[in-house]
Amino acid sequence: MATRPFQIPEQSVVDTAARVPAVVGEALRVPLVTGGRIGYANLDHAASAPCLRSVRDAVDELLPWYASVHRGAGFASQVCTRVYEGARAKLRAFTGARDTDAVVFTRNTTDALNLLAKALPRATSVVVFDTEHHAALLPWGSGPRVRRLPAPATPEDAVEALDAALAACPEGPRLAVLTGASNVTGEVWPVAELARVARRRGARTVLDAAQLAPHRPVRIGELDIDYVAISGHKLYAPFGAGALVGRADWLNAADPYLAGGGATRAVRDSSVGWNLGPERHEAGSPNTVGVHALAAACQTLAADGWRPVIEHEALLLRRLRAGLGEVPGLRELSLFGTGHDRVGVVSFTVDGRDPGLLAAALSAEHGIGVRDGLFCAHLAMQRLLAESGADSQRALRVSVGLGTMTEHVDRLVAALHRLVAEGP
Ligand code: PLP
Repeated sequence: MATRPFQIPEQSVVDTAARVPAVVGEALRVPLVTGGRIGYANLDHAASAPCLRSVRDAVDELLPWYASVHRGAGFASQVCTRVYEGARAKLRAFTGARDTDAVVFTRNTTDALNLLAKALPRATSVVVFDTEHHAALLPWGSGPRVRRLPAPATPEDAVEALDAALAACPEGPRLAVLTGASNVTGEVWPVAELARVARRRGARTVLDAAQLAPHRPVRIGELDIDYVAISGHKLYAPFGAGALVGRADWLNAADPYLAGGGATRAVRDSSVGWNLGPERHEAGSPNTVGVHALAAACQTLAADGWRPVIEHEALLLRRLRAGLGEVPGLRELSLFGTGHDRVGVVSFTVDGRDPGLLAAALSAEHGIGVRDGLFCAHLAMQRLLAESGADSQRALRVSVGLGTMTEHVDRLVAALHRLVAEGP
């Protein structure tokens, strides 16, 4: 099914202005009304990005043909089976998967990484930085074969620390868990370099690309990584669909992630023959609409070679950081310090101000949606807050993307100035 040509920025996402879902009723206060329109500034793209128009169109096109996948002879079932497998092919293209890779559909990145954790060969050593999002930190457990590395001070330190940790791993399979971009600071990790040392030490790599894939191309072959995990709702598609893409051998050798219909070849009284390939881990009726939406988003994002996305976000990020830099008492959190590549995510504290109250005021008084808290990265946040000298145990996070206009950024900066000037 065709996707619309890509447009930046406000034309690319579904317009929420002046439309609040009827199901909400009167319970929520409308964020900001000017001239009869709701001027909601969604500066929380890193949590979930707004839906692309091309994604909505693709979903609209499919919904009348909603039917079971892989299991029906009827026309609608054939349509859905084609759409489902077509989405797999699009994900393969989006991630630059190799012939030996499988594309397994999951619910999201968390699900994808948990699937891989369950599929690891026995006695696999796992090395992971403790700055990871909990989705990448926790699925491996905390046994003796799991080594957690402290936050590195620079990207170069990260490469060195990984190299040393992998060199010290016992014999047997090894996995290095990498992240593409931090969901707290937006800083981009040196994935290709980390993958290179992992390869040299005989380790496989998995990339948590939840935050990188919406902003930059993530190509398995070019980065020379072994697995990548992504979430649809971070990629301008709705919730409920994600993917694990990577080496099929461990996945084919593992027990099915879920036991049930679709994963089986033959079931007898005393034995079950499980499928090989992605079906092995996709038991149950799949989320066809979700993977179709995810694939449409991937196609749209990659359509123009990423240039419009990267340029739009770079402009917004420069403006945002310059504006935030002028707010009295504002401390930006950073792992690697200045001068490193970043996607459009900035976390900060403001001296003497409670992040939760600031976030609430930004929403209620200025129509701006941001996030506050620890961002499912508690260990990273403990270190970042301590190092920044913040007087708060939590932070605010602002994240931009294709639904962001410069007006949103300017409104945020002006609102912060006002809230800070008003005092606690
Ligand atoms: N990894 C990173 C870096 C994230 O930012 C997130 C979500 O915020 C996840 C993993 C988990 O994504 P999901 O909730 O879609 O599974």
